[in-house]
Amino acid sequence: MLIDKYETPCKNAITSEKNESPCRFPAPASPRRSNMQQLIVSALLASLWTLCTGSGDWCYQTQFSCAHQCNAPEKWNQANSNCGGKSQSPINIVTRKTLKDERLTPFKFDNYQQTFSNPIKNNGHSVQVAVPQTRTISGGQLPTTYKAVQFHLHWGTNGGPGSEHTIDGEQYPMELHIVHMKQHYADLTTALADPEGVAVLGFFYERSNSANKKYEPIINALKSIKNTNGNTSLSSISLSQLIPAEQNLTSYYRYKGSLTTPGCTEAVIWTLFENPIPLSMEQLLAFSELKFQDGKSMVGTFRPVQPLNGRKVYRSGGAVMLASSTLLMLAITTALGFSQPN
Ligand SMILES: [Zn+2]
Repeated sequence: MLIDKYETPCKNAITSEKNESPCRFPAPASPRRSNMQQLIVSALLASLWTLCTGSGDWCYQTQFSCAHQCNAPEKWNQANSNCGGKSQSPINIVTRKTLKDERLTPFKFDNYQQTFSNPIKNNGHSVQVAVPQTRTISGGQLPTTYKAVQFHLHWGTNGGPGSEHTIDGEQYPMELHIVHMKQHYADLTTALADPEGVAVLGFFYERSNSANKKYEPIINALKSIKNTNGNTSLSSISLSQLIPAEQNLTSYYRYKGSLTTPGCTEAVIWTLFENPIPLSMEQLLAFSELKFQDGKSMVGTFRPVQPLNGRKVYRSGGAVMLASSTLLMLAITTALGFSQPN
């Protein structure tokens, strides 16, 4: 039956027009409504959304099922209109369309090597670690100095694709976000009111044959925080041990976007480094052992890529193209070498 193909398993529960579910939303405001009416409707929508989901909480696509109809990414904009904005994150970066910008010089990382020992927490969406705010970044065409606030990760299912950003359509197994805010702000809420208030450094991971010893403190801690709201103390770590060596951080992409979770605030200067961080399959798998609030495996913790809507993506001077010309030279030299008689 052809029609069956288009019926979703949850059709009767959520999409049927005849369904008189108490969770149906009123029709969108018509253009004739006054601003006040629109405001009331928006407020009503937001409160209904909260009512229908219990906590007003959001979820990733992997958490959605007929039995658990949580607010998956395509519905995030119903509670947060920001999530339907024109400058959302993550995005797919098409490298041949990126614009080279010589002003994207290497970053200056301050106190990134200083160790700290803060709790690591399963917050129901990810694992997160607060960072003492004395670690700062500057340079790299940032308008000012930004201080680190926290870091967290996004991953797939059992080491499969799980990064938020993709490069030429390739999704890496995991992505690290080190969240920074302008140095003079006291908290993230204030920083998010500034369109350039937040700077996130994003790093991709790649599967390696051997374990990354520098990640052992985090990997070991995961066992103790499998359940939502679980937290444990992390043995002493530094931000620099989690990311590639500074000399390998000169190639990166830059664009303006948003937080990748609700409220999706468009206040983020994004930097995505080209060089990935190696982790063994065993280390990647450890993240899929974590649990969401409902006890299901915490997997697929990424938002799908969002439309670029005409935004420009820039690349630093040292990125992609230099690497390709080096490879080309190497190939020519090798070919010439091979053609020489012994
Ligand atoms: Zn993130």
